[in-house]
Amino acid sequence: MVNLILFGPPGSGKGTQAKKLVEKYNFFHISTGDMFRYEMGNNTPLGQKAKEYITAGNLVPDSLVIEMLKQRVIQNKGVYGFIFDGFPRTIPQADALDKLMNSLGQSINKLVALDVDDQEIINRLQERAKIEGRSDDANVETVKNRIEVYKQNTTPVYDYYSNFNKSAKVNGLGSLDEVFDRICTELEGL
Ligand code: AMP
Repeated sequence: MVNLILFGPPGSGKGTQAKKLVEKYNFFHISTGDMFRYEMGNNTPLGQKAKEYITAGNLVPDSLVIEMLKQRVIQNKGVYGFIFDGFPRTIPQADALDKLMNSLGQSINKLVALDVDDQEIINRLQERAKIEGRSDDANVETVKNRIEVYKQNTTPVYDYYSNFNKSAKVNGLGSLDEVFDRICTELEGL
């Protein structure tokens, strides 16, 4: 089993690249952002709790995210491998993920981070807001907060996996196929 974390700031292309990786390698894709949007769309208790954080561009509390993630992993533990997209976003989440993987006799094989500068993120999310209608993309102040939260809370996760020689950075600029090829190169030999 190969388990991958697709990492990077909002708008770096994680979701798009995850879909291409699923087609090529048959991974099982878990996006915590998509899961929360589903919960909010169905107005579930979890969706109601998550909404205020997401709307403001803040992180949903670890306890809620970790519990939701655990259930999804355990329900699908027979798959070829997982792509985690948008998770882990904090050190406690990384810790919980490692423990969960361990309990299943698995581990995280690699974290691939998509490197995209701030101005490009803002431009991309403005475009995505027009297409997907996400309110957390449309508001520039919310986007700036998400970028700040990423730098403060989430980048330490990159260093956490670096300590195990598992982190790699790829240039997130260029065509979809160019970025995809760079990711695939990082997966060779896993
Ligand atoms: P995303 O689609 O991954 O950009 O996620 C959208 C929003 O969902 C984020 O801005 C957070 O508010 C929330 N979210 C998604 N994943 C997580 C996570 N792992 N930890 C905390 N909040 C999350």
